[in-house]
Amino acid sequence: MTFRSETSAVPSIVLSDGNVIPQLGFGVFQVPAGGVVPAVTAALEAGYRSIDTAAIYGNEEGTGRAIRESGVPRDEVHVTTKLWNSEQGYDSALRACDASLDRLGLDYLDLYLIHWPVAAAGRFVDTFRAFQALKSQGRVKSIGVSNFTVENLQRVIAETGEFPAVNQIELHPRLAQRELREFHAANAIATEAWSPLGQGTLLDDRTIVSVAAAVDRTPAQVIIRWHLQLGNIVIPKSVTPSRIAENFDVFGFELAPEQMDAINALDSGERIGPDPDTFTMGLSD
Ligand code: NAD
Repeated sequence: MTFRSETSAVPSIVLSDGNVIPQLGFGVFQVPAGGVVPAVTAALEAGYRSIDTAAIYGNEEGTGRAIRESGVPRDEVHVTTKLWNSEQGYDSALRACDASLDRLGLDYLDLYLIHWPVAAAGRFVDTFRAFQALKSQGRVKSIGVSNFTVENLQRVIAETGEFPAVNQIELHPRLAQRELREFHAANAIATEAWSPLGQGTLLDDRTIVSVAAAVDRTPAQVIIRWHLQLGNIVIPKSVTPSRIAENFDVFGFELAPEQMDAINALDSGERIGPDPDTFTMGLSD
């Protein structure tokens, strides 16, 4: 098996803490534990050097195994995982990080995210303080959040004095998240797009299909290109090796301003996933 060593086609995003993350990565949500080793192996083989998992996905073991057994040096793969809702709180967050590192078989994470704010539980600030400790111990290189609203971000910043390096949010042409992207830009928070393809539901959209025909690329490539040109970090998922490779082959073309505008016009504010203000799955009390 050959693993490309040059990854120069993928731009790096410099985070506010000085660390870098590839702008295009590979997500493994809904990849069953049994299928994650071949999927991550195919991604690394195609050239991806950033993998996004989470404790709740139940596939950290296989994700870590695929990375360790790939032969790609550890410092050339960016690894993100996320703390699940039930583990929020200072001490439980420290334990959760150790458990994720154990399952991954790694001795540090490149990026650790609070998966959801679960604001009603009132623990995300303490959780982020634990993340600061993990960063100072070297267990985690960068710390960030996911699904945080502007209000949640303002609270973390005001109470900890630290800006999350990343906010990973649902973002695709139907949910372009303009307000959050502007807040992120003003505060040096990198925007990372989850469900960047709308979980596949955008691939037969008429506008996307017609732009794809005009640039002689696939709908998935056009949407990924739209994210890249907006400046988003983007982490599409697939378990099909040909699609994994297709989604990585997005650096040889550009969308014209009017094609970007046509895709921007698809924004309807329509979510696929839960509303971050009310999502409390995993909360025990
Ligand atoms: P996605 O938008 O990446 O869509 C994935 C689906 O699109 C695939 O299952 C497949 O059906 C289809 N697809 C992918 N490539 C294709 C291609 N080239 N041609 C045709 N169909 C194709 O959806 P996602 O998996 O929900 O999101 C990507 C990643 O974002 C996840 O794997 C996960 O890592 C992350 N995520 C994070 C959160 C969070 O709360 N932080 C939530 C959801 C997802």
